[in-house]
Amino acid sequence: DRKKYVLSFDLGASSGRGIVFSFDGTRMEQICQHRFGNQAVYLNGTAYWDFLYLYQNILEAMIRVGTQYPISSMGIDTWGLDYGVIDSCGRLSGNPVSYRDKRGAAGADLLLRKMTGKELYQRTGTQFLCGNTIYQLFYEIQKHPEQLNNAEAVLMIPDLISYFLTGKKGAEYTIASTTQLLDMKSKQWNFPLISEIGLRKTLFSDIKYPGEDSYTLFSEIQDRTGMKEAKLVTVASHDTASAVLAVPAAEKENFIYISSGTWSVIGIETREPVINEKGFLGNFTNEGGFGKTIRYCRSLTGMWLIQECMRCWKELGQTITYDQMGEGLKDTEEFMCFIYPENEAFQKQCDMPKAIQEYCRKTGQKVPQSQAQIARCIYESLAMNYLETVEILKEQKKADYARIYIVGGGSQAAFLNQCVANATGMQVAAGISEATSYGNAFAQLYHAGEFHSQWEFREMLKREENIRYYEPENKDVWKLMYERYRRVIKNDGGQR
Ligand code: ADP
Repeated sequence: DRKKYVLSFDLGASSGRGIVFSFDGTRMEQICQHRFGNQAVYLNGTAYWDFLYLYQNILEAMIRVGTQYPISSMGIDTWGLDYGVIDSCGRLSGNPVSYRDKRGAAGADLLLRKMTGKELYQRTGTQFLCGNTIYQLFYEIQKHPEQLNNAEAVLMIPDLISYFLTGKKGAEYTIASTTQLLDMKSKQWNFPLISEIGLRKTLFSDIKYPGEDSYTLFSEIQDRTGMKEAKLVTVASHDTASAVLAVPAAEKENFIYISSGTWSVIGIETREPVINEKGFLGNFTNEGGFGKTIRYCRSLTGMWLIQECMRCWKELGQTITYDQMGEGLKDTEEFMCFIYPENEAFQKQCDMPKAIQEYCRKTGQKVPQSQAQIARCIYESLAMNYLETVEILKEQKKADYARIYIVGGGSQAAFLNQCVANATGMQVAAGISEATSYGNAFAQLYHAGEFHSQWEFREMLKREENIRYYEPENKDVWKLMYERYRRVIKNDGGQR
C-alpha cells in the first residue's frame, strides 16, 4: 500500500473534527471522521474555552485512528483570535478566554484611547474586531498584569495544542495574522507595536510559514496513540486560510473566493497587503495565506441566517431539510423582499423568521410567510450583499477576475450559487464542502513532498472533485433589483 494517511484537525467555535485523508499520488479521499462539540464555558462572568476537553478529544481521536491507519502526519487548524499563556515551567497558565468574552471590547476601549483605529490599521493591515488578540492582551496587561508578567510565551490556540503535543513553541503565520500584532507588509511580528502596548517581545515565538516545519510528538503520546511515525506539521492553522487553499483555481488565474459557512469570508489572494482608507472604512482585512500570500477579505453574515431559521422551524415541529428547501425555492415568487444581512437585528440567536418578517414590514415590503419565501429572501439578499463586496474588491485590486469560487458547507446551496452568479454577472464554481480539512491535509502532503505547490493541489481538486459551475442568468433583472435592494437597506435604520 503506497497510500499516505494524514490526519487533519479542524476546530471551530461550535465543533471540532479530526478527519483522516488517504492520498494515492493522484487523489485524496476522506477515510473517517471523529467529531466533538465545543462551546464557551462561563465562570464568574468570564467566557472560557474548555481547553483540556478539546485536548482530550484530540488525543482520543489520535488513539482511535492511530491504531487503525499508518498515519504519517497530523495538522491542526482552528478559529482565530484566541491564545493561551505558558508559564516559566511550561505549564498552561489559566484557561484560554474566548474572543466572545467582554474583555476584548473593554481592551479595545482602552487601547483606542492611546492610538486611533486608523493608525492601528495602517501599521498592521488588520481589521477591527473587538475580539482581536491585541485588545484581549491589552486588557490583561492593563488590568491584571500578573499572568503576562510571569509568562514565558503567548501561543495562539493551534500553536498551544502543538506545544502540548510536541513541547515545541512556534507562531504559525496565518493564525498570527489574526492577532493584529503582525506587520502584514513584512509578514513578521510588529515588535515596535508590541513594545508600545507594554508587552515583552520574548513572549512571541518565531513565525513559521505553513508546510515548512514539522515536529516529533512526545514519546508518551506516540506510545498512547500508536502514532509512532507521525510528525506534527505546521499547516495553515487559521481555518479560513486552510479553506482558501482548497479553492480549485488554476495558477495565474485571478479569482474571488467565498468561504461559505456560518460566516461568508469573501476576498482575493495577493502578494502584498492592500492598506488604504476605503479598506479601513469597509472593515476589509489582510490575513495570511499559504505560501506567504495575503488574503484580502471581508467577513459577512453567511449561512447563519438560514441555519437559525432551520433551528426555529425545527423547534416548532416544522423541520425542513436542505433538499426540501431547494425544491420549494423554485416555485416561489422572485424578489419578493430583501433584508440587509448585516443588520443588527440578525446578529444574535433569535426567532429569525420573525425578525425577517418584522424587517420587511418595517421597510414597507411584502412580508414573506412560507419557509420557501423566507429562504428565498435570505438567499437573494445574501447574493446582493456579496455583490457590494465584489465591487469593492474589483476596485481595490484591479484585475480580470474570471470567476467566483465558493467553498465550505454553504457551497452545497445550489440555489444560492445561482443567485451569486446572477447578481455578480460572473461564473460561479462551487465545491469542496470540507475545504478547511482538505487545505489542512494539503499542507501536510506538501511537507512530505507529495505536492510541489498549492497549484498542483488546486489542479487536482479541479480534476478529481465534483465542482459545479453556474452561469449568470437574467443579468438585467438582477441589476434593476440591486437598485431596489440598495434603496431598502439605505433606509432600514439598522446599525452597521
Ligand atoms: P462552519 O464551520 O462555519 O459551520 P461549514 O463549512 O461547516 O462552516 O459549513 C456549515 C454550513 O453549511 C451550515 O451553515 C449550513 O447552512 C451549510 N450546509 C450544510 N449542508 C448543506 C446543504 N446540503 N445545502 C446547503 N447548505 C448546507
